[in-house]
Amino acid sequence: MLCDQTSACMNSVFVSDTRLEAHLEQVHARWQALRASIDLQARSGRVQAEMDPDAFDRMMTAASRAKSGGQRVLWLHRAADVVAGAVSRAKASACTKGCDHCCHIPVTVSRAEAVHLAAVSGKRMATAPAHAVRVSQELEQLQGDGYLEGTGRGRWEHHIGEACPFLSHGECTVWAARPLACRYHYSIDKDNLLCQLLPDKQAVEVPQLNVLAFTAMSWRILGLNQEAADIRDWFSDEA
Ligand code: SF4
Repeated sequence: MLCDQTSACMNSVFVSDTRLEAHLEQVHARWQALRASIDLQARSGRVQAEMDPDAFDRMMTAASRAKSGGQRVLWLHRAADVVAGAVSRAKASACTKGCDHCCHIPVTVSRAEAVHLAAVSGKRMATAPAHAVRVSQELEQLQGDGYLEGTGRGRWEHHIGEACPFLSHGECTVWAARPLACRYHYSIDKDNLLCQLLPDKQAVEVPQLNVLAFTAMSWRILGLNQEAADIRDWFSDEA
């Protein structure tokens, strides 16, 4: 989710019309190859092998015992960083500096995380964000989507192609405080071919690390009854 201001980052985030046909052929070929191989299972397996479950459990336990929403967010971020360490050691993800496609798709943020982001960034958050739902509703949708190979776009797909308000010149300005949705978003492909956005918001499956169980645990600790909204609706200029 970081970009180093290459020309690809500064131009439109959508695949251009002139490249579209060739791009779709590559996408088709990539999925055929992935389905015919065990690469995705192998990468997931490597992450699992690199996980430190005791460290993860310690962070989750601390989160569940924390006295305030802010402390819960911090412990849950640390738990997510344990997973990040495993992904990095396993060399299992295409996500790398110089790529910010996923900063242009919907990003679900709970109220507790929005409060944390507002405190860290000094940006004003909406008191009643547009299109908000309960965290429980968002979790139900995620669980019904088939997370591993889903597009992961969910109910806020009208934001596809719109930069996250915390993305500046291709870099995340709140990296240490970025929400769980960003921390738990990993393509386990070999590069970002499938992450590139298509015109007219057509969906492409991206093979993601299946972290649904971690997301569900985290949201339960934060509180299923609170609101969730897209990051752009929490931090729109009108907020
Ligand atoms: S907070 Fe925004 S800019 Fe930062 S990683 Fe998440 S989507 Fe990208």
